Amino acid sequence: MTEKNDKPAKAQPLTAVKGMNDILPPVSAQWESLEETVRSLMARYAYRNVRTPIVEPTALFVRGLGEVTDIVEKEMYSFEDRLNGEQLTLRPEATAGVVRAVSEHNMLYDGGKRLYYMGPMFRHERPQRGRYRQFHQIGAEALGFAGPDVDAEIILLACALWRELGLTDWRLELNSLGQPEERRQHRAELIAYLERHADQLDEDARRRLHSNPLRILDTKNPAMQALVEGAPRLLDFLGEASLAHFNGVKAMLEANGIAYTVNPRLVRGMDYYNLTVFEFVTDRLGSQGTICAGGRYDYLIGQIGGKPAPAVGWALGLERVLELLKEQGAAAPAPAPDAYAIVPDAAAMPQVLRTLQALRAAGVSVQMHAMGPEGLGSMKSQFKKADGSGARHALVFGGDELAAGEVTVKSLRDGAGAQVRRPLAAVEGWASTLLDGSQA
Ligand code: ATP
Ligand code: MG
Repeated sequence: MTEKNDKPAKAQPLTAVKGMNDILPPVSAQWESLEETVRSLMARYAYRNVRTPIVEPTALFVRGLGEVTDIVEKEMYSFEDRLNGEQLTLRPEATAGVVRAVSEHNMLYDGGKRLYYMGPMFRHERPQRGRYRQFHQIGAEALGFAGPDVDAEIILLACALWRELGLTDWRLELNSLGQPEERRQHRAELIAYLERHADQLDEDARRRLHSNPLRILDTKNPAMQALVEGAPRLLDFLGEASLAHFNGVKAMLEANGIAYTVNPRLVRGMDYYNLTVFEFVTDRLGSQGTICAGGRYDYLIGQIGGKPAPAVGWALGLERVLELLKEQGAAAPAPAPDAYAIVPDAAAMPQVLRTLQALRAAGVSVQMHAMGPEGLGSMKSQFKKADGSGARHALVFGGDELAAGEVTVKSLRDGAGAQVRRPLAAVEGWASTLLDGSQA
């Protein structure tokens, strides 16, 4: 449609979806740094990267996580594919997808697999500090191993990550959910106990009383704390094998000097857990204090239709880990190029670009002064930009220099002002002098 006057109507500015954040420089550098630390650490523990789709069949989560869970009841972004009517969901977590992939590609045919992933997850929650609708998780999963040794390994892996990141304000809470039969016995007694105190149950608890009573123990409602504290403890229902597994995990953590507390009320939000469950918690992020959580899920693969195999894993919330680092006053990385190219005359650009290509190929990071709407700007304004970039060197591609087949390298930091001419034809010979720790 055309407007009456010739001017096009001003478009309404579009904004990001509520609870879904842009991650921009310089903050994105922190994300990259954390991701690099994780990649390097995972390699040392021989965990391999896995990448699964962000969209999965809705049924995967309904079957995998359990129908009576926060996620499936109210947090999933589910939709029907208009083209073919498929029921799909933006992944609210990645374990179900990883398990689907492992089973679909028969990855356990030659033994257990250790995997890790990083990526965005989606939950329709009330956005607040540490709680978003698109958030990011890093997760480790060890599939095909049944013993407490792998539980300990994967917990130690998380502890090593905190150490490398310099994260100190955390504590480890540990529990065992036992096996389904032990849970059934406990469940019956728990329901009986809660029914005796029905007047103290909130609406959520009443709804879950017969569908998922264990989750009631996980309540964040302060009015119910006394009630859940007095409830029968699942730990007291564990048989010999479950206890031996739990004691095994604890002994291995102790042997590694990892402090933990047993929290008999730790149940986790997903139905798929059994035996070991754990959370890394901090007091410095308010009620969003769980930075990493996980446990054993020996029945999940079978539950989604695969060949049953034991497994254990955890997922950390990147936003919360970064927030905690910030709380601790960790310095944010401030990336700066090694050099900034000053270009007085646009005619020099072809030569400038060629030189910068050679420098970058030699490992130097260089920021080029590019043309703005008003052209290249004065030398003075270019030097100001060079300073602002944090670069240690300015490369001045002036007319005199180019006529002589050279560039001036000027120091912007230590001994600012010191300068030297370098030949354009032999970049490799002097490129390394621009790197951190070298003299110009
Ligand atoms: P919470 O009890 O805080 O809702 P959860 O039990 O739902 O957490 P998990 O599903 O176990 O969380 O996810 C593992 C980790 O992912 C959490 O410990 C947390 O650090 C992070 N996380 C979960 N949901 C969100 C969210 N909406 N926004 C940011 N981080 C999240
Ligand atoms: Mg949650």
